[in-house]
Amino acid sequence: MPGTVVVAGGGISGLAACYHLVKSGSVPKVILVEGSSRLGGWLNSTRTDDGAVFEHGPRGIRPAGVVGKNTLSMVSELGLDSEVLPVKGDHSASKNRYLYIRNTLHKLPSGLWGVLKTVPPFTKPLVWCGLRDLTARRGTLPDESIHSFVTRRFGKELADIAIDSLCRGVFAGDCRALSLRACFPMLYNAEQKRRSVILGMALGGGGTPQQDSSLIRRAKEENWSQWSLQNGMQTLAEAMEEFLKQHGVEIHKDSPLTGLERTPDNGWKVLLPGGSLRAAHVISAVPARALSQVVPASLDPVAVELRQIDAVTVAVVNLQYEGDILPVSGFGHLVPSFEDGALLGIVYDSIAFPEQNRTGALSTRLTVMLGGAWFEKDVGDPNQVSHEQLLLRATKAVKNHLGVHGKPSRAIVKLHKDCIPQYTLGHWKRTDNMFQYLEQNAVPLSLIGASFEGVSVNDCIYNARKAVERLLGQKQVP
Ligand code: FAD
Repeated sequence: MPGTVVVAGGGISGLAACYHLVKSGSVPKVILVEGSSRLGGWLNSTRTDDGAVFEHGPRGIRPAGVVGKNTLSMVSELGLDSEVLPVKGDHSASKNRYLYIRNTLHKLPSGLWGVLKTVPPFTKPLVWCGLRDLTARRGTLPDESIHSFVTRRFGKELADIAIDSLCRGVFAGDCRALSLRACFPMLYNAEQKRRSVILGMALGGGGTPQQDSSLIRRAKEENWSQWSLQNGMQTLAEAMEEFLKQHGVEIHKDSPLTGLERTPDNGWKVLLPGGSLRAAHVISAVPARALSQVVPASLDPVAVELRQIDAVTVAVVNLQYEGDILPVSGFGHLVPSFEDGALLGIVYDSIAFPEQNRTGALSTRLTVMLGGAWFEKDVGDPNQVSHEQLLLRATKAVKNHLGVHGKPSRAIVKLHKDCIPQYTLGHWKRTDNMFQYLEQNAVPLSLIGASFEGVSVNDCIYNARKAVERLLGQKQVP
């Protein structure tokens, strides 16, 4: 059992690590050090006086799978069930997703009929892509770009249009550079195990432990595609902070980790601007680059790998318009890179979560996402670009894509530098190298956070939990 555990980084990963450490009841002292003045990291919501909520980071969490259920369990344990806003299966935001190509919004095909007929912008029915997968040979490369994998298994058109757009929506990244094995390990494993992705997904991995709660059952019964919280996703971080305080976690804000030194008892001296802390174990939940700058020289092999994990910058522009002004109803639309590098997509927040609209007269809330892997090339230098330029770009897109000519009644522009890590080719090997090095050399350091094994909120929470379970199972030195 470890003695004092210091968790560095108070985003959702660090908060989840602290949560599971205190819940275990077997760690005498847990200390959380956060570099900024607030906890939550990218979970950041603006609540206005007239009751509207604007998300600057994550806005929709998927309930499905082991990781989705794990988050729902934690939400219930935190007493947040009544705050949950589900998007049920029969809602238009669950059923309708669009692509914007050549001045037109195209609804993505869904259902059996949707894949059997030719639906623009595709030139043949999607069922052909499925047949191709069922007959294609198993890949032999240890890693491959997402674009190359989908082209090989499903055809180039699907990769160029749908997968290009999807990767921009999820990772703000370029599917030609992102690793299939690291970004979509389920697809990689499905092909390796069953030769076909469709067969692999249909037959499943089997044997994953199931979690159960009334919220999980409700999500299943109502076929939720995603959920949020009434006062925004920041509520989750606030509830976790409250839980940690009640359970005696020492929280240091405005305390960036500036160095880590090994101590003779195989622990750590954790260096902060105002002094230092002693720890038997450190869980790092800071971005890979930030960690690479503070690890001691003895961990150079780890630092070398950490430095290679890059992240992209995204501008998030929240807009509110008067009235119900959208020409379509759905979750939102994505824009493939060949159409417009800078414009990743537009989320129709007021459709998925109308409960977060302001009270009184009808309004429409949208979020325009800009940049990602194309930021420097198609938007500009993140250190130079002004909020006015970003706002202009966003409102122009709303006008061109959605035919909305009026001015927004509210606009919030946020520039998130290096906010989404990019798992490029070889990422799996880099993480493997680091995890193995730390284990083989018995270094009392765990690596969690979006830089490593999944960027979704669900992944971050689940991986934090797994790291804590590994640590407690290891019976570390005091
Ligand atoms: P972070 O949130 O980056 O937290 C790291 C923390 O470490 C920060 O608080 C930072 O201040 C702190 N820190 C940094 N350096 C130091 C240091 N030296 N010492 C101490 N502290 C330090 N996911 C979804 O599931 N659904 C979505 O809809 C979704 N949308 C997204 C939209 C945007 C715009 C972004 C940016 C992300 C989105 N994501 C979404 C992804 C998800 O929100 C993030 O991957 C996740 O929140 C990352 O959490 P984290 O704790 O690992 O990292």
